[in-house]
Amino acid sequence: MSSQLYFQLITPLIFLVFAMGFGLIYRYTSDQDSARYFAISYLFGAIAFVLDICRSLIPGIIDNMVSNLAYMLSAGLFSVALMAHYRRKKPWAVLSIIGLVALCTSYYFMLIDDDMAVRALVLNFFGSLLLGYPVIALRGMKRRPIDRLIYWVVAFTVVQFQLRTIIVLMIEGSTLSEETYSGSLSAVTFQLLTSVSALLMALALFAMFGMEIVLKLRRNSETDILTGLLNRRGVEAKLPEFENALANGVKSHGVLVFDIDHFKEVNDTFGHSAGDEVLVACANLLKELKVEQSIVSRVGGEEFNVVLYNVDENTAKLVAEYACSAFSNLTHPAIDNKVVTVSIGVALWDVDASFAEATRKADTALYRAKSGGRNRVVVARTKIVQFQTRGAERRAS
Ligand code: GH3
Ligand code: MG
Ligand code: MG
Repeated sequence: MSSQLYFQLITPLIFLVFAMGFGLIYRYTSDQDSARYFAISYLFGAIAFVLDICRSLIPGIIDNMVSNLAYMLSAGLFSVALMAHYRRKKPWAVLSIIGLVALCTSYYFMLIDDDMAVRALVLNFFGSLLLGYPVIALRGMKRRPIDRLIYWVVAFTVVQFQLRTIIVLMIEGSTLSEETYSGSLSAVTFQLLTSVSALLMALALFAMFGMEIVLKLRRNSETDILTGLLNRRGVEAKLPEFENALANGVKSHGVLVFDIDHFKEVNDTFGHSAGDEVLVACANLLKELKVEQSIVSRVGGEEFNVVLYNVDENTAKLVAEYACSAFSNLTHPAIDNKVVTVSIGVALWDVDASFAEATRKADTALYRAKSGGRNRVVVARTKIVQFQTRGAERRAS
């Protein structure tokens, strides 16, 4: 095998490896639909380059036509993949029209008016149009640095398609023919720059997929699967921000510990899945509190924790009372439209105490709320019952 052939084979091999890489991402992630299109795009790229090599060994019109089709499919599917990745509508119609016009024109200059230079010009021009679609469609998008990198690599590829073709054809356009194509400046620069562009695009895309997969794993590890609230680890991740605020002059945060009253009886009477539905509804109610910068989490079976940013004891107590009251008014279809009540312990987290200490105090207050009759709010350090809602008569238990 000649060294030139070895060189030519590297390009489809690169495309094939990347197609497999994107295929694996698609196979092992549930929400990366775009990876499937990137995989098919790179696969068509590999096929096109292999056909190109065959063309230089055994010249033939069919091979030529199929390779043109594969190039167009590769560029078009790359654009579809990018648009899909950024949750934009997949531009099937526009890209199909551009692709069809490209193929018809190139076939015309192959079968009817055989002109290799015009054909190269047409294919590179329409190829760059196909690839350039997302460059235009995504230009105003607010992007992360990795998205900007991908955007500019694609834009560079589009520009190089145009400029390279014009420059190279100016140099050797008049001598270019099917016989001289293999080894020509057109062929060599096309292969070299296209494989470099494809390599850069794939590396940037892999970096992006890697980042997104890690972020998703992190988000999942910090989220309670049933309710979508943060779990204990998620709370831990947010605490430094609250600690910094205390170190920088914020006086205190409020820690509210919620425990649903007699929840075991809900499960025993209505079943575990009805209990789950109640838990989800309770979590939604807490989400709807929407107290600015607060952390809302599910820290145990039927226990929730809310950390209120920069509040004093009075505000923390008011929020707890509001929530306690809201719980006692929320009916649950899953348990015959009964209500579940909550007991809430409240404590302040300030510079003199850690979050763990504040939580311990809130737990003690919660214990007092339970032993005082449930469906109420107790603030740590105070002896009297602060608040009790009505509605206990409609309770599920
Ligand atoms: P108290 O008023 O003293 O808090 O009584 P309780 O029945 O709520 O407390 P207890 O600790 O005895 O029972 C808590 C129940 O919560 C027991 C368990 O079956 C239920 N539970 C915990 N996690 C889940 C869950 O994910 N889904 C459902 N359906 N039930 C759960
Ligand atoms: Mg409990
Ligand atoms: Mg309970």
